[in-house]
Amino acid sequence: MAKSLSPVCKLCRREGEKLYLKGERCFTPKCSFEKRSFAPGQHGRTAGRGKGMGTGRVSDFARQLRAKQKARRIYGVLERQFRRYYDTAITRRGLTGLNILQILESRLDNVVFRLGFASSRAQARLLVTHGHFTVNGRRTDVPSMLLGEGDTIAVREGSGKLSYFKDLSAFAEKRTSPSWLNRELKSMSGSVARMPERAEIDGSLDEQLIVEYYSRR
Ligand code: SF4
Repeated sequence: MAKSLSPVCKLCRREGEKLYLKGERCFTPKCSFEKRSFAPGQHGRTAGRGKGMGTGRVSDFARQLRAKQKARRIYGVLERQFRRYYDTAITRRGLTGLNILQILESRLDNVVFRLGFASSRAQARLLVTHGHFTVNGRRTDVPSMLLGEGDTIAVREGSGKLSYFKDLSAFAEKRTSPSWLNRELKSMSGSVARMPERAEIDGSLDEQLIVEYYSRR
């Protein structure tokens, strides 16, 4: 199963903003971006590079590329798979940009994260990969599985005995879950009530630029 091996905090520095990829740590003074907000690399401190796209004139292509990379990094998706999501999105009804975001949101690892069962998408991905969740009653270890309306997710019976899952209810309680998901803390389960609307997805993502990036290629 392919995944990005780049040090995560560097990705925030490259985008010039906090992407909150490391869960709780991102909200503490230990966050690397708080100490070094300039871009990584030898010329990272060069004027302009610290803001991801610089302060000078930015081409349309650079803006489109950055918008796509930012979304990819937030959801932890590699380029080939992201491209596939775009190809799927154009075949669906409605706005292609919103379709891409809905596909990303409907990934199993994202749903586990959104339900508050993990502190980051990376952690959710790991938990899924280790087979701790079931989808519609069947064990799965595929974080990229796309869920649809009515699908149910639950902590696997055997995994409930692990200390992580024993404490999970209290941890998840502190985290809100979006209204497009139903969450049942007592049974450590949830379901997809409907697909998220645009207002329920990260407002800093620019889906229009992502569509422009792929349509020019
Ligand atoms: Fe980004 Fe979180 Fe690392 Fe801070 S701690 S740089 S927000 S991944």
